[in-house]
Amino acid sequence: MITDFLELGLSNEILNAVAELGFEKPTPVQSRIIPQLLMEDGDIVCLAQTGTGKTAAFGLPALEYLDIRDKGTQVLVLCPTRELCRQIHEDLTAYSKYISGIRIVPVYGGAGILGQIRELKKGAQIIVATPGRLLDLLKRDAADISGISTLIMDEADEMLDMGFKDELDAILSQAPQSRRTLLFSATLPREVERIAKSYMKNPDIVTVGERNAGADNVEHFYYMVLEEDRYAAMKRIADYHPDIYAIVFCRTREETKKIADALQRDGYDADALHGDLSQAQRDYVMDRFKRKALHFLVATDVAARGIDVSDLTHVINYNLPQETELYTHRSGRTGRADKKGVSIAIINQREKGKIRKIEAAIKKQFTRLPVPGAREICEKQLFHLINEINGAEVGREIDSFMPAIEELWGSMSREELVKKMLSYEFNRFFEYYRKAKDINIPEKPERKTAGKKAASDDGRTADSPDDKVRKPADGNPGKCEKGYTWLKISLGYRNRIIPRDIIGIMRACGIGKNAVGKIEIFNDFLYVALQNNVAGYAKSQIDGASYNRKRLSAWLIKD
Ligand code: AMP
Repeated sequence: MITDFLELGLSNEILNAVAELGFEKPTPVQSRIIPQLLMEDGDIVCLAQTGTGKTAAFGLPALEYLDIRDKGTQVLVLCPTRELCRQIHEDLTAYSKYISGIRIVPVYGGAGILGQIRELKKGAQIIVATPGRLLDLLKRDAADISGISTLIMDEADEMLDMGFKDELDAILSQAPQSRRTLLFSATLPREVERIAKSYMKNPDIVTVGERNAGADNVEHFYYMVLEEDRYAAMKRIADYHPDIYAIVFCRTREETKKIADALQRDGYDADALHGDLSQAQRDYVMDRFKRKALHFLVATDVAARGIDVSDLTHVINYNLPQETELYTHRSGRTGRADKKGVSIAIINQREKGKIRKIEAAIKKQFTRLPVPGAREICEKQLFHLINEINGAEVGREIDSFMPAIEELWGSMSREELVKKMLSYEFNRFFEYYRKAKDINIPEKPERKTAGKKAASDDGRTADSPDDKVRKPADGNPGKCEKGYTWLKISLGYRNRIIPRDIIGIMRACGIGKNAVGKIEIFNDFLYVALQNNVAGYAKSQIDGASYNRKRLSAWLIKD
């Protein structure tokens, strides 16, 4: 393995630019790919995670091959998102700092097309493009890829995931046969294999790191709590890491908004990145995050694609992704360029199986961590504050106020003064955590079966009167509590269901007793009132699941 940039066969112009960027030695994907691209012909499919230095791996050789006197387009880089497009453009511009006369033009959707057409008209030896926008430009004859010698697809799996299949087919079939094609992907799903088979010539398949494996320097942890404690767990994790700088992944844009809003309300520097934002809003959020004015970027998978932030302390899976492969992409955002990374997941009891699936896919183990308790968090915060005070520079301006300060505080003992100062900063924290309970849940939850007489948490027996049940005379439920929604489930007295079983079903979904309101049981179905914030989740977990070998249906009932 080549460990020195000087041995890769690159020209001095490029070596100087790379040295200025502070790259000391090539990353594994660069050592593996660059000499092959410089010395041999042929197509390559490269399976490498995000953040491994892929851009330089394909970008440096592409720059070497460029004929600067020829103003036509010679290299086309396709990538899934505008963020990645801009990032690749920025990186290639930095690598080509000492190549005069070079023109690299990024084109992507969500920005004015006329400006991009003007830029292309001035000449573009390299075009970096998202597939949809490029196709649009090709149709308008504003871009010409008929003379390209290299076509690079970056994050091909993401492009296909995002529905760019038809655009890729159209672009690839228009590119000249004589080109060299490089395809980079973190994973190799069937669709990527199809693209490689249809549009590449006997590609060499290069795997850097294990196929589908998580980056070696990323550690994986999970915290297990009840569904309704998910946000509280997130807050505690945040408070326990005062220097946290994290992307928080959510499944939907609604969830990103909700979590970012809640974090902001609770005094954290957080904002959301999702598909509803205009380009200017996205740029604003990203700029604040990159400057670390934001400590939390709450994002959907799609919105976070292409984000290149190299010093994240954590990736937080507020909710695990639906597909295991997405976890690889998420966790690949941390632990970049040889730094240590931490990827954590907040899960409920029902999601343990997902952790096992991900472990099998990434071939790494997760470690369960307890959600930090009040005392640990307060201690962490207090010493963080003390460290900050220790590091504070004492300005000369303060000298002129010293006599007056002496007069006010002179009689106070040192201990008293220290206590007062720290309490002033810290009381809010103590106050919040004073009543905080332990929100960790046991590894193996107790499951109860219908009809069993068992003592409940509060000592009542299963068939003792339960104030959560009102046996109705007719088939419609009464009004449920304010802030609650009825969930109708296809189980009833005929299935020998009693309230405790319903609490048990909810608990198995990760929903605690406190989120459960009234229960009304009929012969063939029942209604359970659930706090609004967990009702939809409960429906998604119960509908289609089985209980005592009966397949369940569940419906949300609007008042
Ligand atoms: P990429 O996979 O191309 O997105 O690169 C991930 C990060 O690693 C970017 O911030 C690059 O600037 C950085 N990087 C790429 N190559 C090297 C290298 N040889 N040494 C140090 N950092 C690098």
